[in-house]
Amino acid sequence: MSERVDLLVVGGGINGTGIARDAVGRGLSVVLCERDDLASHTSSASTKLIHGGLRYLEQFEFALVGKALAEREVLLRAAPHIIWPLRFVLPHQPHLRPAWMIRIGLFLYDHLGRGRRTLPGSRRIRFSKHVVGTPLRDEFHVGFVYSDAWVQDARLVVLNAMDAAQRGAEILTHTRCISAKKEGTDWIAELESDSGVRRTVRARALVNAAGPWAAKFLDDIAHIEHSHSLRLIKGSHIVVPKLYDHRYAYIFQQPDRRIVFAIPYERDFTLIGTTDIEYQADPSHPTIDGEETAYLCEATNRYFKRNLTPADVVWSYSGVRPLLEDKSGNASEVTRDYHIELDSSGPPLLNVFGGKLTTYRKLSEEALDLLGEALGNTKPAWTAKGPPLPGGGEFNIDALLDDVRASRPWLSEVMAWRLVHNYGTRTRDLLGEADGLEALGEHFGSDLYQAEVDYLIRHEWATQAEDILWRRSKLGLRVSPDDVARLTAYLAKVPAR
Ligand SMILES: Cc1cc2nc3c(=O)[nH]c(=O)nc-3n(C[C@H](O)[C@H](O)[C@H](O)COP(=O)(O)OP(=O)(O)OC[C@H]3O[C@@H](n4cnc5c(N)ncnc54)[C@H](O)[C@@H]3O)c2cc1C
Repeated sequence: MSERVDLLVVGGGINGTGIARDAVGRGLSVVLCERDDLASHTSSASTKLIHGGLRYLEQFEFALVGKALAEREVLLRAAPHIIWPLRFVLPHQPHLRPAWMIRIGLFLYDHLGRGRRTLPGSRRIRFSKHVVGTPLRDEFHVGFVYSDAWVQDARLVVLNAMDAAQRGAEILTHTRCISAKKEGTDWIAELESDSGVRRTVRARALVNAAGPWAAKFLDDIAHIEHSHSLRLIKGSHIVVPKLYDHRYAYIFQQPDRRIVFAIPYERDFTLIGTTDIEYQADPSHPTIDGEETAYLCEATNRYFKRNLTPADVVWSYSGVRPLLEDKSGNASEVTRDYHIELDSSGPPLLNVFGGKLTTYRKLSEEALDLLGEALGNTKPAWTAKGPPLPGGGEFNIDALLDDVRASRPWLSEVMAWRLVHNYGTRTRDLLGEADGLEALGEHFGSDLYQAEVDYLIRHEWATQAEDILWRRSKLGLRVSPDDVARLTAYLAKVPAR
């Protein structure tokens, strides 16, 4: 016997979870399956910016940039605990792009999409009079600052899944869709968990949000003929001990006309990325290569006084962008815009190709407008002005931090900051009635305690050490191999959900 739902979503990255949330909020019954952990692929390997993409202006992608800029403040409102404003510094290099061109670009960036209401606008600065000049090499005298926003990317995915689940969606992690076929007015899909348990789901509509595997899903699992080809482009980042001591990020223009960001990361580090490399291998586990590391070191050494070498790298990660193939020869120039397509030749199938984290909510809204029509659901879009994501709300994040610290003076400033910027108002649920660190249970290194681990198991589908150390948090940067072993042993004792 198979169960029947309105929507089966395949893929637990940002697009799949965003669509599941929007759908269940419009009254549809939803099952989402993700073959690994939530956000284990592209959606945790991004540069973590909610941005319009200044450089896409040069490619005349005004529609994409306008759409993305309009989303910045919508998302800041929805999740102020995991998304926050970030100011960027662009040192001026007249031989790469003249000042007039940058001024026009920034003017457009400030005004396109009517997206900027609370974020400050751009301006020109002199490095001799500003803290951001200190780490820069002496040849840089002037530059520009402008606004974008930072996001804890994997947490954005998890919060969308949590909200979807709270509204009634069923979220199945470590569950792969192994076949999908049309039967009358329904899709019949076979799901298989990591432990080999199979389950059949009958769905009125199917969403293919398989990211880099979206074309493969159509070819090998749904056996649907299509004309799309995805161009896979690997992007890598390196993390190094912090290169400077202030809260601004830098955007560095390179002689090959690419740009590389240097961003304050996890308090003690600097994140540097990204590269853009054609990729043909299986997108499951992309890794950085020596040339990419050298490129990123050189890219920063052109600007900072401090010389960076590959030996400084403490961590790196790579992800694969699934971009819809176009005629562009250069990987950096393939459009970053998304394409959603509804195939109504039988039971509806909605395919998602490409996209950015920044535009996931808009993409989900458009997907549900299309699917709603196909399924006879007339409930209106709700996520732009609707309730916030779990832990979010209309609060001032500093006031929330003060409140958490005042009621729990035994929490260090660093730990309280981290918890509030991961869990927002839910920090209080996580800490419960604890009256000291000992009351938080077993210690797993850094400031990770059993109470947080149990919360992540109970509410956020964490099952493995990596889920906790590299996606729900970035404590992997701070714990020892012994800590990881203890956490792994603890998780092994937890009964399966
Ligand atoms: C290097 C890099 C930097 C980026 N920086 C930014 C940025 O700063 N800002 C921004 O807005 N965007 C950025 N992006 C883009 C953004 O990360 C992606 O657009 C987004 O994460 C894509 O999400 P997705 O849900 O489509 O794919 P994914 O996150 O890859 O999710 C697809 C999921 O489908 C699952 N899946 C596949 N097949 C099956 C199956 N048969 N059954 C079950 N599950 C399946 C996979 O396991 C995977 O988890 C960046 C991308 C890269 C690569």
